Amino acid sequence: MKNDTWGRVKQQLLETVGRNNYANWIEPLQLQKVDNGIAQFSVPTSFMANWVTRNFSDQILSHLKASGVPASRVEFKVEAVRSADTLSTGSDQAPAKTPASLSAQAAPVTEEAELPGAPLDARFTFDNFVVGKPNELAHAAARRVAEGGPVTFNPLFLYGGVGLGKTHLMHAIAHEIQVRDPKTRVLYLSAEQFMYRFVQALRDRQMMDFKQLFRSVDVLMVDDVQFIAGKDSTQEEFFHTFNALVDQGKQIIISADRAPGEIKDLEDRIKSRLQCGLVVDLHPTDYELRLGILQTKAENYRAQYKGLVFADGVLEFLAHRITTNVRVLEGALMRLFAFASLVGREITMELAQECLADILKASDRKVTVEEIQRRVSEHYSIRLSDMIGPRRVRSIARPRQVAMYLSKQLTSRSLPEIGRRFGGRDHTTVMHGVRRIEELQTTDSQMFEDVEMLRRALEA
Ligand code: ADP
Ligand code: MG
Repeated sequence: MKNDTWGRVKQQLLETVGRNNYANWIEPLQLQKVDNGIAQFSVPTSFMANWVTRNFSDQILSHLKASGVPASRVEFKVEAVRSADTLSTGSDQAPAKTPASLSAQAAPVTEEAELPGAPLDARFTFDNFVVGKPNELAHAAARRVAEGGPVTFNPLFLYGGVGLGKTHLMHAIAHEIQVRDPKTRVLYLSAEQFMYRFVQALRDRQMMDFKQLFRSVDVLMVDDVQFIAGKDSTQEEFFHTFNALVDQGKQIIISADRAPGEIKDLEDRIKSRLQCGLVVDLHPTDYELRLGILQTKAENYRAQYKGLVFADGVLEFLAHRITTNVRVLEGALMRLFAFASLVGREITMELAQECLADILKASDRKVTVEEIQRRVSEHYSIRLSDMIGPRRVRSIARPRQVAMYLSKQLTSRSLPEIGRRFGGRDHTTVMHGVRRIEELQTTDSQMFEDVEMLRRALEA
């Protein structure tokens, strides 16, 4: 009875937290009892207990309450659970854990052992990935790696801001490789999960198994690697795993929210290892890509919500106004369709404005020239006052030109307006600066990187 309810609540949680979170954090929870208004769960590690408490306890509690469980609090207690239990995150309906299946799962890793990776999202395929200028390089590299054959670049390092498609591309590679050759052992997991499994192996004294497992894969994918920055022993282990696989000629694919060199608190030897392969970034989306993505998704929704009337211009409006990231864009479209079908109204510009007011407002945040000046001077370690002051030495003039260039790119200010904000300079000076930075970006890769990084930081 109790477990039935928890089973149902888990299904609801799967929908609200998503497959990845569900597999990592919800699935391993076991409801022990509800006592005095406290729902007690057992979890395998204290790290996990902390994480779940911080991130999911509210949602778990409210779903429990909604299902009629008389709980006013949730508690997570660490119980010694065999590691094999929590390694099998692949399926949503784990088989009942009889002693027999436990010992079977805890057997030494063999060639056929289940890989303890995160589940792949079935929607994240190459077919569903819309290619545009900002992501064409990353897409091409991902395709290339997915084709298999001799490993040409190792690792493939994909980086870019939140919601630009890194995870999507990685899953797409995994799907494709598995379709081509089902025997290939592909292990996809987040850096966070890597750490979690590493800590677990340490605790359970199963480092040999851990090492053997990670060294037995054909393709290793680690998502959001910036997570292990500052976590010294995890980095150490990651480094060894990485080297072992590269030595065996196995493909490694890594993603991060920034370039290897820019990840703080990441050991230099790891940074340089990561830079050895092909490093490609996903640029912020442009209008055309956003529109393309919206059109593709809207097509799917139209099939799903038959009979909904969709006014012209709405997608264009959204592509123009929601520039943050693709996840937000998708969320907006999904809400729009759901809302329209619920109230039985046509999807018009007015409806979009009404139903998406919060998202539109959040996206409205405009970058100011002052903010650009501040960021750029921080980046180049010069004084803000020098940015608008008269000094013309290169070490100051160049950052000033970068700031002018970004002001032209990211704000709607005119050249004379920008000039005024740079200590009353003439618009021709601004124009010269903008041109100079445009040129330098094509000849000087450091300049290109600097400008890209600043742009990303300012648009975040
Ligand atoms: P990241 O891992 O870079 O934060 P994700 O890969 O999770 O981003 O992408 C966020 C969402 O946006 C996902 O639902 C993904 O399918 C979608 N998405 C991102 N880029 C594209 C694209 N080019 N075409 C279609 N969907 C995309
Ligand atoms: Mg991701």
